[in-house]
Amino acid sequence: MLQHDVIIVGGGLAGCRAAVEIARIDPSLNVAIVAKTHPIRSHSVAAQGGIAASLKNVDSHDSWEAHAFDTVKGSDYLADQDAVEILTREAPDVIIDLEHMGVLFSRLPDGRIAQRPFGGHSHERTCYAADKTGHAILHELVNNLRRNGVQVYEEWYVMRLILEDGQAKGIVMYHILDGKLEVVRAKAVMFATGGYGRVFNTTSNDFASTGDGLAMSAVAGIPLEDMEFVQFHPTGLYPVGVLISEAVRGEGAYLINSQGDRFMTNYAPSRMELAPRDITSRAIARELRAGRGIDLQGNAGGPFVYLDLRHMGREKIMSRVPFCWEEAHRLAGVDAVEQPIPVRPTAHYSMGGIPVNTDGRVRSSNSSLVDAFFAAGESACVSVHGANRLGSNSLLECVVYGKRTGASIANFVQNRKLPEVDEQFYLTQARNQIQGLLDQQGEYRINQVCQAFQDCMSQYCGVFRTEELMNEGLNKLQELQQQFSQIYLDDRGSLWNTEIIEALELRSIMIVGQTILTSAINRQESRGAHFREDYPQRDDSKFGQHTMAYYSPAGIDLDYLPVTMTMFEPQERKY
Ligand SMILES: Cc1cc2nc3c(=O)[nH]c(=O)nc-3n(C[C@H](O)[C@H](O)[C@H](O)COP(=O)(O)OP(=O)(O)OC[C@H]3O[C@@H](n4cnc5c(N)ncnc54)[C@H](O)[C@@H]3O)c2cc1C
Repeated sequence: MLQHDVIIVGGGLAGCRAAVEIARIDPSLNVAIVAKTHPIRSHSVAAQGGIAASLKNVDSHDSWEAHAFDTVKGSDYLADQDAVEILTREAPDVIIDLEHMGVLFSRLPDGRIAQRPFGGHSHERTCYAADKTGHAILHELVNNLRRNGVQVYEEWYVMRLILEDGQAKGIVMYHILDGKLEVVRAKAVMFATGGYGRVFNTTSNDFASTGDGLAMSAVAGIPLEDMEFVQFHPTGLYPVGVLISEAVRGEGAYLINSQGDRFMTNYAPSRMELAPRDITSRAIARELRAGRGIDLQGNAGGPFVYLDLRHMGREKIMSRVPFCWEEAHRLAGVDAVEQPIPVRPTAHYSMGGIPVNTDGRVRSSNSSLVDAFFAAGESACVSVHGANRLGSNSLLECVVYGKRTGASIANFVQNRKLPEVDEQFYLTQARNQIQGLLDQQGEYRINQVCQAFQDCMSQYCGVFRTEELMNEGLNKLQELQQQFSQIYLDDRGSLWNTEIIEALELRSIMIVGQTILTSAINRQESRGAHFREDYPQRDDSKFGQHTMAYYSPAGIDLDYLPVTMTMFEPQERKY
């Protein structure tokens, strides 16, 4: 059996930052990262616009308190304010630390790190590396893994969390290359498995964002927090859904409807295109519904609106947002210097996730913690984003809480022994699960069921929600879950069998989707990204709390956890 002091699942920003911190604090610890992709192919690499911190390089009036207020207001008062305080206070130091590791941020003429405006932020505080910020940061972190002797298992798919008597003891993993199964035991297990954009049919996320870590935790009996809050990013490129970064609006681009109007005047007159994402996505969806969208012939009534950069001029476009220009050119055939880009909302970010405290320790209920289990990054919910995340706060969360969780793990494993694990038991179960999939004689292809499931989630649990719509969705979803036992695989081999991975991922998507829908049906109010047409107001007295969803094959039970309010009282949220 393989063993490490610490095993981290996920090679994105959160997992890598934690690993580096553990190795820095105690170089004698044996730390390993597992990822189903190469670490540099984690979705973090695709992050474009930037990372927020009140460095005050551009705006001397900025402060961590202002950043904290913007974040809490952006969250529609659902974020835990103690966690937000840590995030925003520690932000400037983690950015400087990244720079010392070698991250190449874009610069001001005087050599300091440049900062740009971003949606929902009241000051210019988003640091960036052109529109390839995630790329710049992740490359340096992965280099630092090597430098610090962290072992990397790349292209291994983790299929199970070993949790016994309230203690995380290890994982079971499958080697995509040759189908080999391994049990790994460890003194501490950390999940940094990223988001679940693939639950929806149109998403900015990569193919690996299937919510595996959430599903594995849920199956092990751990609650999932605030799953109803799914961020739809306003500007997904039509029709593929790939992201056109908010940095483009940060640099001055306009949103235009079929009548040529900058329609954001009607929705957020003071912030216009730089209103928070929930508000901007709803505004676009409303324009489309009202027939003021545009089609590919340029007529009214179509499925997208325009993102117009033309007034910015070639030089600014090419120096500040070159990657977005290239995406629009390559994927939609649009030259953004000359033509507006067709966009519509796309599933982008998971505000909810595995519930953790501010040391990254996973909660097993409102009042208890799982022993030896940690999580950070997009898969976790420490709740700094509440009901709606501000752009450029997620990379920040990965780095601040990745670092913090790493420090907390380095401390935790001192004087701990490796747990006893029955290797044969877990290997047999995993082997049976894989063999069961290979032997299944069903009538559906994986892709058929997956597509139907993603369509169902997008149709019944998208930007606008009602009880009737979501109940219909839940019924459809249960029918589709039945079909999972009737899928068949064409590939029955063990070498690079991506169909097995797709089948395991489909299982994750289904568990996560069911949790989202159930949590959403039961939140009878509108807050942040969760908009109920049948309950259009925020209801603090009943729902000023976090949803905790406990999954079991028989159904999902819900409980509610109070929000931590230390700094700001809830107010009406206007921009
Ligand atoms: C297109 C795009 C642009 C973005 N731009 C910005 C931005 O400018 N600013 C900002 O703040 N945020 C941005 N975000 C959000 C931000 O990038 C992510 O929230 C963040 O990078 C997530 O990092 P992570 O470490 O939590 O997970 P990820 O980077 O998603 O990494 C997840 C890791 O887990 C591994 N994994 C998952 N499941 C398994 C399994 N079963 N077995 C083994 N390994 C597994 C994966 O292989 C991967 O290594 C953007 C997101 C997208 C999609």
